[in-house]
Amino acid sequence: MGEQVKAGVVTGEDYIKVVRAAKEGGYALPAVNVVGTNSINAVLEAAAKAKSDVIVQLSNGGAQFYAGKGYPDSSEAKVLGAVSAAQHVHLLAERYGVCVVLHTDHANKKLIPWIEALLEQGERFYELHGKPLYSSHMLDLSEETLEENVGECARILERMAKIDMSIEIELGVTGGEEDGVGHDIDESADNAKLYTQPEDVLYAYKTLNPLGHFSVAASFGNVHGVYKPGNVKLRPEILKHSQALVQSEFGTDANPLDLVFHGGSGSEKSKITEAVGYGVFKMNIDTDTQFAFAKEVGGYVETTPRAFKHQIDPDSGKPYKKVYDPRMFMRAGESGVVERLQEAFADLGAVGKSAAQS
Ligand SMILES: [Zn+2]
Repeated sequence: MGEQVKAGVVTGEDYIKVVRAAKEGGYALPAVNVVGTNSINAVLEAAAKAKSDVIVQLSNGGAQFYAGKGYPDSSEAKVLGAVSAAQHVHLLAERYGVCVVLHTDHANKKLIPWIEALLEQGERFYELHGKPLYSSHMLDLSEETLEENVGECARILERMAKIDMSIEIELGVTGGEEDGVGHDIDESADNAKLYTQPEDVLYAYKTLNPLGHFSVAASFGNVHGVYKPGNVKLRPEILKHSQALVQSEFGTDANPLDLVFHGGSGSEKSKITEAVGYGVFKMNIDTDTQFAFAKEVGGYVETTPRAFKHQIDPDSGKPYKKVYDPRMFMRAGESGVVERLQEAFADLGAVGKSAAQS
C-alpha cells in the first residue's frame, strides 16, 4: 500500500497523495454529481461499502438546487448551495472512514464570478480551519482560445494555490452538455475538437505546473450523457500521446499529467480500463447515477401506485402513511445510487483501495 491519509475531506498535499495513490495503484475514482443530502449520503455510503475513496462534485445547477430552487437570487443560490453542500460533506465524510475529494464541475466564462465567490468563501474557511472548503474547482474555458483558456486558469490557480487548492481545466471539448455548460453533439460539427491536441496539453503544463496543482479534462471522444452507440468513438490513446509528449519535453516520470475522464456514463469497460492506464485518476459519472436513482423511485411507486393518489385507500380504508413517507421512496433512490456506484468502483479498479488510515 502507498501513503496513508486521514479519512475525511482531503485538500492540498493530502489530495495530491490520494491522486498519486490512484495513479500508482492503477485505479481511478468516480466523481459523482450530487444535488442534495440524499445524493451526498448515498455517495458516502457507496464509498464506505466499497472501501474506496470518492469525489463528490457539484455543478452550478446542482449547487443552486442544494440551496433551493425557490431561492430568489439564483446566482447567490449557486454560491450558498455549494457552501452548504461542502459543509455537510466536511462534517460527515470522516465518519464514513474514506477520503473524500470535494470538487465543482464545469464553470465556463460566464461562471467565473461563481468560482470567484466560492474562492472568497474558501479563503474565509481556510482562515478558520487551515484548509479550503473545496479540494478543487473546474474551469472549463474550452470555448475560448487556448491562450485565453490557459491564461485565465493560471490567474485563478495562483489564487487557489495560496489556500492549498487545485484546479481542473478542460482542453478540447467534451461533447454534449452538463448543466447548461457544453456543446451540442452535432454530427456535422468539427470533430477534431472532440480530440485534445497533445501540443495544447504541453502548453498548459508549461504554464500551470510552476503555479500549483492542476488536472486536465482532456477530450478523447467522450461525451456527456448516454446516447445510442456509434455517435462518437472513444480514442484513449490520445491521452497516452499527451503524457508521452510532456514526459519527453520535461524529462518527467511516466504519466506526469493527472487526467480526468468526463462523460464516463455509458462508456465501454475496456475503454475505461485503457484510459485509467494512461493516467486518468477521476471519472465523472452523473447520467448513470441519475438514472439509478430514478429507476428505483419509479419501481417503488409502481409497487403501490394507490399510495401516491390516496392518503387512505378508498376501498379498504387502509391508511398509506407508511408507504408515501418521503423517506421510503428517497431511500429507494439512494439504494439505486449505492448499487450503481459499486459497479463504477469495480470498473475503475478502486474497490478496497481507500488511502484512508484504518
Ligand atoms: Zn463534464
